[in-house]
Amino acid sequence: MPHTRVSSSLLATLLAVAAGSATAATPVTDKAPDITRQQPQIKKILAEISPKRIEGYVAKLVSFGTRHTMSETESDTRGIGAARRWIKAEMERCGAGTNLQVAFDSHIAPVSARISRPTEIVNVVATLPGSQEASKDRIYVTSGHYDSRVSDVMNYTADAPGANDDASGTAAVMELACVMSKYKFDATLVFMTVAAEEQGLLGARHWATQAREKKLNIAGMFTNDIIGSSRADNGKVDNKQVRLFAQSIPATKEMSDAIRTLVQTGGENDSISRQLARHTKEQGERYQKDFKVSVIQRHDRYLRGGDHMPFLEQGYAALRFTEPAEDFSHQHQDLRTENGKVYGDLIEFNDYDYIAKVTRVNAAALASLALAPGAPQGVKLRTDKLTNDSTLVWQANPEPDVAGYRVVWRETTAANWQGAKWVGNVGEATIDLSKDNVFFGVQAVDKDGNVSPASYPMPQR
Ligand SMILES: [Zn+2]
Repeated sequence: MPHTRVSSSLLATLLAVAAGSATAATPVTDKAPDITRQQPQIKKILAEISPKRIEGYVAKLVSFGTRHTMSETESDTRGIGAARRWIKAEMERCGAGTNLQVAFDSHIAPVSARISRPTEIVNVVATLPGSQEASKDRIYVTSGHYDSRVSDVMNYTADAPGANDDASGTAAVMELACVMSKYKFDATLVFMTVAAEEQGLLGARHWATQAREKKLNIAGMFTNDIIGSSRADNGKVDNKQVRLFAQSIPATKEMSDAIRTLVQTGGENDSISRQLARHTKEQGERYQKDFKVSVIQRHDRYLRGGDHMPFLEQGYAALRFTEPAEDFSHQHQDLRTENGKVYGDLIEFNDYDYIAKVTRVNAAALASLALAPGAPQGVKLRTDKLTNDSTLVWQANPEPDVAGYRVVWRETTAANWQGAKWVGNVGEATIDLSKDNVFFGVQAVDKDGNVSPASYPMPQR
């Protein structure tokens, strides 16, 4: 069976190279920082994430009756206006004495398919500025939507508790802001709760469009949407995993030159969102060993969408967290009981230990990304000579604490990195593996061992 022989010999090569038989163009003299350890700061952050506080946030959000985007805004106890003023006040209260900056981001949405009168759409955005000059313009966003709905998406008066969709994600973001604002990161973190997701992703789209116009470097975005319950509609409980939806390449009519080159080299599974997903899975599972980050290789569930989509449309890396098996009788439903079955997004269906676990995955990923250097730029594979080894080149990272670079690789059918080689603080390395048989990536590593997501190499002619 020649096919089997080829595969096993390739795997043997992968393992041999992983053990250190690769050759770098420049001799490796710098010692590799320990990139596999748990960082004390990240461990502390995860330990501080509180299911009890998350439960309190969800209960308060549900108490506003409805948070429909067109619901009333004058009352202090009912409707979306009261909800957003409370979210802002609560993040300011918890972030007091830190550098956390909380602000409304508001615009008027005109009448459209899901907006029956011009409506003010207000996001609540909390920003924790990065502390390293070379990294503070690199931004990571985590988001949840605080608006809610019932069966009729235009019904803005009926009770719409939205305990799972999406008080769960909103509470996770508030908890992350509360805990993480007490710590320092090189890059900037944005904790965002948005409105009008249910009316067509209007809040997130407004922010993402502005970000692109202002040329903001959003290096990664997460939406947390329906992360509240570990119980499927068949009653089965699975509190050991979360789904992480990750787009390959955008389904546009026209292909950009960059996407075309990605496809031409077989890099559909190495889009920026897939690289972010690999990093998130690795970091999430490193710090929370009994909880799996199940990467789903599509942008969202069939015919569904979320607030990561406007970010994807703007060319940013963006992912969606959602519980493993949804109970659709608890989403987008009028509150009622039919034949003994309870319908509605009620608070009693949430599992706060589960929401805390998903929140910790966010925290591990966000903290590791914001402590690490950015992914290397200008990564290329030399193709000027036909050889059976592979020479990668890249630009030097700008961060002053970069210790060097790591080349990673995997077989073309594998989802996650299988081999890695520390190559030191160089801009070029040769690995004794054929670029035609594996996928490569290059990561930047700082002196504390914080590692960036991998960058996919484009061909250099
Ligand atoms: Zn939702």
